Amino acid sequence: AGKRNGRGQVTLFNKEMQKEQIELRKDARDLRAAIILDRLDVHYQPIVGKDGQAIGAEALVRWPDPFRGPTSPGHFVPVAEQTGLIDALGEWVFRRVCHDFTAADYPTIFVNISGEQLKGEELIPMLKSALRESGRSAENFVLEITETVILNASDNILQKVKEMREIGFRIALDDFGTGNSSFAVLRELPVDIVKIDKSYIQTLENDPTAQVFVAAVNQIGNLLGFKVLAEGIETDEQSKLARLAGLVMFQGYHFGRPRPLVATDWKKVLRFAE
Ligand code: C2E
Ligand code: MG
Ligand code: MG
Ligand code: MG
Repeated sequence: AGKRNGRGQVTLFNKEMQKEQIELRKDARDLRAAIILDRLDVHYQPIVGKDGQAIGAEALVRWPDPFRGPTSPGHFVPVAEQTGLIDALGEWVFRRVCHDFTAADYPTIFVNISGEQLKGEELIPMLKSALRESGRSAENFVLEITETVILNASDNILQKVKEMREIGFRIALDDFGTGNSSFAVLRELPVDIVKIDKSYIQTLENDPTAQVFVAAVNQIGNLLGFKVLAEGIETDEQSKLARLAGLVMFQGYHFGRPRPLVATDWKKVLRFAE
């Protein structure tokens, strides 16, 4: 009976895996088409400063597909990473962002960069040529890299991050607190901004250790010369507590959800944050 069970499980496992592979291939095929046919979109979520004024926005990719319904980047970005599409996706997003804003008072736009893009050799040449072709300046962008990527990064990846800073980009450490970093590593990382993960922000009201953590990251940030941002602020209370902890940049549904760019005037996009 043991054998039969074992075989049954193996068959089930294979069928599951086969199904996953088929889903992945189908997703990848559709995503590739969406990139080529320009059917993706970028939404912008405001990032606000101390007085609640918008100081910039995070660009978040969207894939509106009439046949699939809403598709989350939490799902299709990993699909792109696993199927070799991430360079094309990342390039599509960055070029779109470069062309979405034409005002002279160009806002700071935060753009997510995948660890897979950092492993390859296309990223930096792509960034440079997109800037050149759009006439944008690297100073207008903050490139977000998740904490886990940068903590496990090879020398080669760290080198690329340094090169991006030399070009003029600022670097943000995304989802800080979700990896296994110690405070000590912050000293050596080539970053300008640390984004504290929303899991800490959303427990600020109930969990005193979250309050201590956020305040401590902020103090270390001040000492080491980077800015600390709270992501995922949903309530007025969370906003107050983040301010109390000394933070100077905030992001979350409380200030504004990610929204499509409705007009060429970026202030219209960010207006709801004021
Ligand atoms: P992320 O970079 O950490 O982005 C923040 C996510 O939190 C976004 O989800 C945003 O909509 C959501 N969020 C913002 N404020 C709140 C809040 O107050 N409460 C809650 N519960 N959530 C909030 P989204 O847009 O679904 O994106 C998920 C992830 O997908 C991003 O996490 C990022 O890792 C990835 N992603 C999105 N766009 C891109 C892109 O253009 N390139 C790459 N490589 N990754 C992207
Ligand atoms: Mg991000
Ligand atoms: Mg984040
Ligand atoms: Mg993330």
